[in-house]
This record gives sequence, C-alpha cells and structure tokens, in this order.
Amino acid sequence: MGIYSSNQQKIAADLSDYHVNQSKWTDWHWQLRNSINRVDTFEKLLGIELEDVERRKIGLTLRKFPLSITPYYLSLIDADDFRNDPIFRQAFPDPKELEIEKCDMSDPLAEDRDSPAPGITHRYPDRVLFHVSNVCSMYCRHCTRKRKVGDTDSIPDRNQIRAGLDYIRGATEVRDVLLSGGDPLMLSDQYLDWILTELRQIKHVQVIRIGSRMPVVLPYRITDDLVDMLKKHHPLWLNTHFNHPRELTSSSKQALRKLADAGIPLGNQTVLLAGVNDCVRIVKSLVHKLVENRVRPYYLYQCDLSEGLSHFRTPVGKGIEIMEGLIGHTSGFSVPTYVVDAPGGGGKIPLTPNYLISLSTNKVVLRNYEGVITTYAEPESYKAKFCDRQCRICDLQLNLEGADDNYNATGIEQLLCDYDETISLTPAGNERMERRDDS
Ligand SMILES: *Cc1c(COP(=O)(O)O)cnc(C)c1O
Repeated sequence: MGIYSSNQQKIAADLSDYHVNQSKWTDWHWQLRNSINRVDTFEKLLGIELEDVERRKIGLTLRKFPLSITPYYLSLIDADDFRNDPIFRQAFPDPKELEIEKCDMSDPLAEDRDSPAPGITHRYPDRVLFHVSNVCSMYCRHCTRKRKVGDTDSIPDRNQIRAGLDYIRGATEVRDVLLSGGDPLMLSDQYLDWILTELRQIKHVQVIRIGSRMPVVLPYRITDDLVDMLKKHHPLWLNTHFNHPRELTSSSKQALRKLADAGIPLGNQTVLLAGVNDCVRIVKSLVHKLVENRVRPYYLYQCDLSEGLSHFRTPVGKGIEIMEGLIGHTSGFSVPTYVVDAPGGGGKIPLTPNYLISLSTNKVVLRNYEGVITTYAEPESYKAKFCDRQCRICDLQLNLEGADDNYNATGIEQLLCDYDETISLTPAGNERMERRDDS
C-alpha cells in the first residue's frame, strides 16, 4: 500500500469536514486527534455494518476494555474480509474478551508486585522496566497490561519520573533500562529528551532500550526530529511489535529506515495470537520482511494469562511447531527466541524443540532440523577446570576494567559452579525439609 493510498484518502475525508491532504494524514498529532473510539465511526469508515445484537455485545465489552485505533492502522484493514483480517482482530473488540477463564489473572506477570518505586518493575538482576507513559496511540486487543488500558490516560509528571530515576540512580547494578508503558513515543520529543538525558547521566546505565509499537500503528511518529533527538543518546536500542507481515507497509518501512539509519539497533517482539499469526508460513513471511527492513526478530511470546485474552491463546505446542519450522529452515538471525513469561513474575522462559537425543561421556547424539541424527565426539583432551574464583591468577584472563569481582552465581548456575557448596535448591515450604527442621 502506498503512502496515502486512495483508501486512506477516503478515510481521511470521511473523518473530517475539511479537505485533508497528505501532510495532515502523515501528521501524527492529526492521527491521534482523529483516533477512532466509537463502533459506529469504525463501521462508517470501513463501510461495514454489524448486526444490532453484535453491536450491543461489543458495547458491553467496551465498558471494560475501551476501543482506540489510529486512522492509519484502520486503513490497513481489508473491509471485504474484515472478520478474518489480522489488523481488525488486533484492533476491534471481541465479546469473547469478557469470558474469563479459571487460569486468568489481572496482573499475571506480577509487574505491580515487583515494583520497588513508581513506574519501575525490577525483576532481573541488572535491568529494569521503566513505565514512562500510560498512554498508547491505539489499544491492542491482546495487550498484556489490559487491566490498565484506558484507566489513567496520562503521562507521569516530572516528579513521578524523578522518583523512578532516583531508584535507578541508587540501584548501581542496573546497567540496562527499558523504557516502556504504555508507549514511550507518546511523549513529546522534549519530554523524552529530558528523560534520556537524565538516564545518560547515571554512570552505571550502559544501555537504554525503548519499547514502542509506533512503527506499526502510527509510523508517522518517527519524524526526522525524533530520530535526531534519539541518536544523541546512544547506545540506544528500540524494540517494536509487528505481529503480521501485512503490517509492513511503505509507511512503516520508512519509519524503520529512519531509525536504522540513525544507528539504532532494531528488534521485534511478536505475540503468538490465535487467528492472527498462529501459522508457520505467516511467521516465516513476517521474520523475512523484518530482516529485510533491518529489524532482528527478538522474541516470539506465548500469549500471557491476562484477563480478556483467552480467545487469543494457542497451546504452547503451536509455538514449538513454529520454531521447528524456522530453525535451520531460515537464516539464524531471522529466528526469534520463543518465550513464556512465567506467571507470578518468574521472567521469560525460553522454549525450543529438543535437539539433544542422548549422550555418553564420549559422544553426544543430536538431530538436526531435517531429522538427520548425528553424533558429536566429545574432546578427549579437555581437562575439567575447577573454578575457585581466583580470577587474578587464572590463565583465562579476566583482568578487564569493570569486571565484577562481587559476582556470585544464582539459580541453576549456582548448582553448576565449583566455588559454591550449594548442592540443591529446594522450594520454600517443602514438607520433607520442614520435618527435618523440627527434629
Ligand atoms: C522482558 C522484561 C525485561 C527484559 O528482558 P530481556 O530478556 O533482557 O529482553 C526486563 N524486565 C521485565 C520486567 C521484563 O518483563
């Protein structure tokens, strides 16, 4: 679809009394001002008509989970087959959103509980999520933070942001800050510039990342002024959120080009969604289009257990099947990591098909993507190294500046290492252990 196609011109004209030219259509403020949040407007612009019963059901759904879509994203819907359209399904409410299943939770990732300061989710040792925006340019029906959509459509003020910055300043282990939200690119260039400048002054913050769906749903947000500002704050990475190859339009490609030309490494996080992209061929076409546009597929997410998403969920087996269809069949850098974000806040858990068939002390038996079974002979000469963490006298040289001397293994890594006596990890409340403690 070309920039400002005839379909888009028609939508623009239907939205306004006055003549809308291309420069208005590509003005992101115009797009936001004209975002569609009523079902009747949606119907009118698409030239479709819903049955009264359905419209009533959708009205009920909207009371819990509101509707908002940019004219640009709406213009990508194929009105002739809108019910099966992947853009429509991501944007238009479905009464099934009100069906709550037993396993559903409002905050499955415990983001609110793992929040030590306003707007901060600190889950992993060396990185934090920093929610700098409560607003989005559109409401994705599959939002994992659906509990918050439309709640307080506001941008945190400087004092709230300062509280988050203070936390990061005090947490010297944090070397990677992810700006998230909402969509951080809903902030003005000036406000975002201020936040990035503040973060850049924190010595231990090495990398800043932005998570934004703007390249997909409002690519006109990626202006020359924005990228000129962003590139002052390198090293800066950006992850976006394409779910279907149809979302890669000439406008979105242009946005990606601007970001990549500004030296910003681009990644993509896709959510596996029933009825949208639960198909090997669709995902493969998507990742190919992404790398063609200099975007590295980063994660393929299993759909979270958030309330209102049950109709979007696939079995985990679908994700493994898709990975089976990608690994080996296409370029390694086109293959995302498939992850389940652990309910309860355990973080992302990567899943791949099994390639390790068996092993002895001398050989490993493996299979490849074609089903060929092969052996790899283990080295005879390798001497097991016992690591006592005397890095200063080790012949592997870690005399790097900034090497972390206080490093201690945790989790499974702790069980594997030689310098820690721990031989097992036991869940809290283990009955057998409690009997021991009593004796
Ligand atoms: C996903 C996520 C991160 C970043 O994880 P990476 O695997 O480093 O991309 C950080 N914090 C939270 C809370 C997250 O959900």
